[in-house]
Amino acid sequence: MEWKIGQTIFFLEEGDITQQTTEAIVNAANSRLAGGGGVDGAIHRAGGPRIMEECRQIGSCPTGQAVITTGGNLKANYVIHTVGPIYRGGTTGEADLLASAYRESLKLAQKKGLRSVAFPSLSTGAYGYPLDEAAEIALKTVIGFIRENPGFDRVGFVLFGRASYQAYEKALQKII
Ligand code: ADP
Repeated sequence: MEWKIGQTIFFLEEGDITQQTTEAIVNAANSRLAGGGGVDGAIHRAGGPRIMEECRQIGSCPTGQAVITTGGNLKANYVIHTVGPIYRGGTTGEADLLASAYRESLKLAQKKGLRSVAFPSLSTGAYGYPLDEAAEIALKTVIGFIRENPGFDRVGFVLFGRASYQAYEKALQKII
């Protein structure tokens, strides 16, 4: 589904983010940028070894921050690696850190002049963030950012599996 927010097309779609044709895709990385399972593993497998070489040179990324590499063999030219929080019950600043991961990714894209960005659902796999809560934070943060920062053509979420997609759709209805 697509919506117009100012000049930006905002989208929600179900699928595999490694197949996206946006200029940048976002990776749910860990702070050592060491690769892993989930979407991180899928991006490195599809993008080839060059992305990991660049990650090694960068070294690490604190939770809530973002770094950028090229996209290797992906259709996307860039991968923005951001680190969402590990969910520990919700009382250790997880919500702020999750919002920060989305915001810092978009700030980095903006700084690089990139006009289209696709996000996965950060922190809702191995990091255990409850999907409904995470979806609301993700959508509020990203939509808020594109409202305040015109200049993006296309920004949205590629959600892996029906359950994630439906959670985001439900959260979006709550917000708009
Ligand atoms: P985290 O460690 O931040 O929780 P995960 O990769 O374990 O990261 O999970 C984050 C989300 O990414 C999960 O909702 C998972 O279903 C989703 N995911 C896994 N593979 C892909 C993919 N190829 N494209 C998009 N999303 C994916």
